[in-house]
Amino acid sequence: MAEIKTCKLCGKLFEGNQLLETCPPCHEKDEKDFDRIRQYLDIHPAAKVFEVSTSLNIPVFQIKRYLREGRLEILEKNQRFLLCERCGKPISSGYYCDECPKELPHNYKSYYAGAGLKGKSRAKDLEEAAKKPRIRYLSKDR
Ligand SMILES: [Zn+2]
Ligand SMILES: [Zn+2]
Repeated sequence: MAEIKTCKLCGKLFEGNQLLETCPPCHEKDEKDFDRIRQYLDIHPAAKVFEVSTSLNIPVFQIKRYLREGRLEILEKNQRFLLCERCGKPISSGYYCDECPKELPHNYKSYYAGAGLKGKSRAKDLEEAAKKPRIRYLSKDR
């Protein structure tokens, strides 16, 4: 059943279903951006987050969102880029480390909202943290 929702990326209202968190234009752009990242990683395996961001002109926080969504993963064990939402330990993908309970509800709002509202220093911190970790495409069907 269709319902009116607020797009998590641009904030516009749209008619969607429970699965869709973004309006159709944003969703389409998001899929295209992800495709570009995937293609880039095909040619440059284990590229750094920062390098992907600057080469493709895709914001660092957007790449971070793909990591949170489990579509990409970080190869480094020790990095400051992607941390467990609960205990702050470095993780390769998703929201929580192995020790923190998985049944906690995913709080999509925190990273979608944070993406747009970040202060300058936090955005800079994020870019700084993005310089080291390398990422790879996380295949869903493995
Ligand atoms: Zn939108
Ligand atoms: Zn944790």
